[in-house]
Amino acid sequence: MKTCTKCGATPVIIHRKASGQMLCKDCFIESATEKVLKNIRRNKLIERGDKVAVALSGGKDSVMVLDIVNSLHERNIIDLFAITIDEGIGGYRKHGVEIAAKNAKKLGIDHRIASFKDYFGKTLDEIMHNESRQHGACTYCGVFRRWIINRVAREENATKIATGHNLDDETEAILMNYLEGNIDNLTRIGVKSEPKNDKFTIKIKPIREIPEKEVALYVIARELDVHFDECPYSRESFRGEVGRFVKELSANHPTIMYSTLKGFDKIKPAIKKEFSGKKVNMGNCIQCGEPASHELCRACLFAKSLNGEQ
Ligand SMILES: [Zn+2]
Ligand SMILES: [Zn+2]
Repeated sequence: MKTCTKCGATPVIIHRKASGQMLCKDCFIESATEKVLKNIRRNKLIERGDKVAVALSGGKDSVMVLDIVNSLHERNIIDLFAITIDEGIGGYRKHGVEIAAKNAKKLGIDHRIASFKDYFGKTLDEIMHNESRQHGACTYCGVFRRWIINRVAREENATKIATGHNLDDETEAILMNYLEGNIDNLTRIGVKSEPKNDKFTIKIKPIREIPEKEVALYVIARELDVHFDECPYSRESFRGEVGRFVKELSANHPTIMYSTLKGFDKIKPAIKKEFSGKKVNMGNCIQCGEPASHELCRACLFAKSLNGEQ
């Protein structure tokens, strides 16, 4: 019978192929938590006195972030609250919002729920049925979600916004942008954002080095409530293809995602220096006042065209 490499207990719940390590439930939880806290310390993602906004969807990734960052809150090192965006996706989002609320309540954390409907007058479902629609669901969703999270974080005086990007997400983003030649996007990928405007709150990715499989195992081991449903608008197909390719490669090359990430982090300063693109002067959107590189920010531009005004 397999026994835990750390404590000798049984049963083992994970065999990490990359390191050969086998861990029991308690040692796995401890190891995953320590990995995340180490990432936070090493990259100075969170420091004493920060007010952290966790972007909480109710999915496994953001629930893991909330659970671990909350340990810093419990030790009175930081202030913490959660933001959940209700995009308005029938048969899918309601469940996620309920689970997010349940998690926040269980930990006694302030929770803000903000909907596309409240801020932009339309649910994502309505946007998808709109005749003036020019983009796919993920484009509208990304732009509106970022706008709302940034606005709410500033209203609540948050100093950091923590998101649930895991190792698989980051590897996909790196490869996808590389394969598409989007060097400008590539230079923006990182563990911590460097905002060009002080109206943007710094974004951090505490679980960036945790593989998706281990995130799933973590929430199961900790018996946390999450929703595992996939968004009906799903992921953009190219990202999906890259994701499948990386997962297939990982079966025989278990360290490939981690080495892609680490390699990228090493060359990033050089690419940034060489390709940081044109310096855009950020002003404020004439309509909503949020940072924008044109007269209107992208969210206001989208909202306007969906109202048939453009
Ligand atoms: Zn153990
Ligand atoms: Zn605007």
